[in-house]
Amino acid sequence: MNPRLGVFLSSLIVTAVIAVIAYFLFPQANPEHLLILALVVCLVSAAAIYFFARVYLSERLLPIYRTLLGKNSDKLANAISTLDAPVDQAEQEVTDWADQRIQEIKDLQAKDDFRKEFIGNLAHELKTPLFNIQGYVNSLLEGAMEDEKVRERFLNKANRNIDRMTRIVEDLDTITRLEHGRIDLDIKAMDIRKCSKDVVDSLEEIAEQRSTQVQVDKGDELMVMGDEFRVGQVIENLVSNAIMYGKESGEVHVKFSRLGDHVLVEVSDNGPGMDPEVMPRIFERFYRVDKSRSRNIAGSGLGLAIVKHIVESHGQTIHAHSEKGMGSSFSFTLALAK
Ligand code: ADP
Repeated sequence: MNPRLGVFLSSLIVTAVIAVIAYFLFPQANPEHLLILALVVCLVSAAAIYFFARVYLSERLLPIYRTLLGKNSDKLANAISTLDAPVDQAEQEVTDWADQRIQEIKDLQAKDDFRKEFIGNLAHELKTPLFNIQGYVNSLLEGAMEDEKVRERFLNKANRNIDRMTRIVEDLDTITRLEHGRIDLDIKAMDIRKCSKDVVDSLEEIAEQRSTQVQVDKGDELMVMGDEFRVGQVIENLVSNAIMYGKESGEVHVKFSRLGDHVLVEVSDNGPGMDPEVMPRIFERFYRVDKSRSRNIAGSGLGLAIVKHIVESHGQTIHAHSEKGMGSSFSFTLALAK
C-alpha cells in the first residue's frame, strides 16, 4: 500500500477511536467538539510522528548512503539534501547498487569461464605436439636409432612438432601483446600491392607443396595507411590459410578494390569452404573448424584471432564469407594514404 495512503487511513481510524473514547469519558460534552478535538489530537501526533520518523530515518539511512555512494560523491550530497522521501530514495539507491554488483559478478564469472576455457585449449594444443615428440624420442631410445632412415624420419617428425609448439607460443605471445595494447603500431603510408607480393613470394614453398597457384592483382602501387609488418602478418595468415585449407592444386587470389577513401583487400580460395554455422566462431582464439582435418595442418587456431586484432587496431573491419564447396574469402579494409 502507498505509505501516504496508509498514514491517511490510520489517522482516520485513530481519530474515530479517540472520538469514541472521549464520548464515553465525557458523555455530556458536545459530540461535534469532541470530534474536532480528536481530529486535532490526531493531526498533531501524526505530524510529530512524521517529523521524528524523518529525522530518525534520515540518521539511519545516512550511513547506508555513505557506504553505497562514497564519502565525497556529489550523489551523496544530493541524497542528503533531498531526503524528502528517504525510504523511496534509499530503496532506489540500494536497487541500483545491487544491479551494478550483479552485473560485476556476471562479468567476473564470464571472465573466469573464458580464462578456464583458454587454459584448457592451450593445454590441449600444446599437449598434442609434446606427446608426439615424446613418442618419437622414446622410439629412438628404444632402438629406432640404429636404423639410419627411421632415425632421420623420426627426428624430422619431432622437429616439425617442435615447430608447431614454437608457432603456438609465438602466436600466443603476439595475441597477448596485442590484447594488452603492448604492440605499438607504426602506421604510415605503405604499398599494399608490394607488401602482398612479398608475402606471397615468401609462401612459395608451401604453395608449391600444395600445387596451388597464388595470384596477386597486378597494377600500380597502391598506397594505404598501415603498419607494414603487421599488415604483412594479416596477409600471410590469410594466404597461408587459403593455401592450407583450400583444395590441393587450388587457386588463391589477392584482390584490391577502391571503396571511397578505403581499399578493400580480399583473399579468396576455391577450396572446400566452411559451413555457415561455424562462421561466427572462426575469429575466436583456438577455434579450428574441422578438428581432425586441422590436426594434420600445423596451426595454432590463433591465426584469425590475430588477424582480426591487427585489422581492428588499425580502426578497420574484416569480414569472412564462405560457402560449402564454393571456397572462402576474407576481406578487410585499409584507409587510402592521402
Ligand atoms: P589455424 O589455421 O592455426 O588453425 P586460424 O585461426 O588461422 O587457425 O583458422 C581457424 C580455422 O578456420 C582453421 O583451423 C580452419 O579450420 C578454418 N579456416 C581458416 N581459413 C580457412 C579457409 N580459407 N578455408 C577453410 N577453412 C579455413
